[in-house]
Amino acid sequence: MRYEGVVYRPPSEANSLIVQVTIGCAHNKCTFCGMYKGKKFRIRKIEEILEDLIQARNYYSRVEKIFLADGDALCLKTEDLKQILYKIRELFPECNRIGIYATPKDVLNKSLEELIELRDLGLGIIYMGLESGSEKILKEINKGVTKEEMIMAGKKVKESKIPLSMTLISGLGGKENWKKHALESAEVISTIDPDYLGLLTLMIEDGTELRDKLSKDEFSLLNPKEIMLETKTMLQNTYVTNCIFRSNHASNYVALKGTLPQDKEILLNKIYEILTTEYNYKDENFRIL
Ligand code: SF4
Repeated sequence: MRYEGVVYRPPSEANSLIVQVTIGCAHNKCTFCGMYKGKKFRIRKIEEILEDLIQARNYYSRVEKIFLADGDALCLKTEDLKQILYKIRELFPECNRIGIYATPKDVLNKSLEELIELRDLGLGIIYMGLESGSEKILKEINKGVTKEEMIMAGKKVKESKIPLSMTLISGLGGKENWKKHALESAEVISTIDPDYLGLLTLMIEDGTELRDKLSKDEFSLLNPKEIMLETKTMLQNTYVTNCIFRSNHASNYVALKGTLPQDKEILLNKIYEILTTEYNYKDENFRIL
């Protein structure tokens, strides 16, 4: 396998074969994201990708999951993605899930029929970063999509019946907008109703615009107590039907995991316990959902 630069993948793809179908991210302008700053975006030649798959087959005896990277691999033409999926099916019959990163624009650029075709060829999960459901924050972080577009993209993936995993970033609104971030993110998640929701905590990376804003005092980081209060507000206002929730990334202060809605109270009680024992927090109505 040939890899270019640092390769990122979601935590749940830790044991997957990673195949770079793009290099970098076509957008590459989010103010908090330094993942692909050093890469000039391009789509790899299809022949190279197919060669990599053949090489991997010769090297690995069993591959159960494959992840297509980099940043927004779903931006490939559907015909090219289909060729890759056919090849995976031919070479790795034991593979039971193919995952991919996608931006909302990538999803909106595909028709529902195209997404269904990709699903039928084995595309088994789409990872899409929501980051925040707040229009104001999406604009501030230069996500390149509106709240409405985010909802449309999320709903389209759901309609295609490809499992959808979304991520939110705690603290992205700073001290000024934490409540807006929590409430509007909960609203968007409740509207889309994804299958998986990951909650990361904002980490400031060198070389990003957000790092500059922070050093100029134009952005304020939340402290751990404020992060907990934001998570509590977000969870209290999230209404989904069957969503695996994870907030156990290395960036998180406290590891939380469960399935929503049934584990909502357990998760909130865990937050309540941390807030009261570690931060002397008091709120008599806290346990009422
Ligand atoms: S957050 Fe996603 S869309 Fe934004 S620059 Fe990073 S990889 Fe690209």
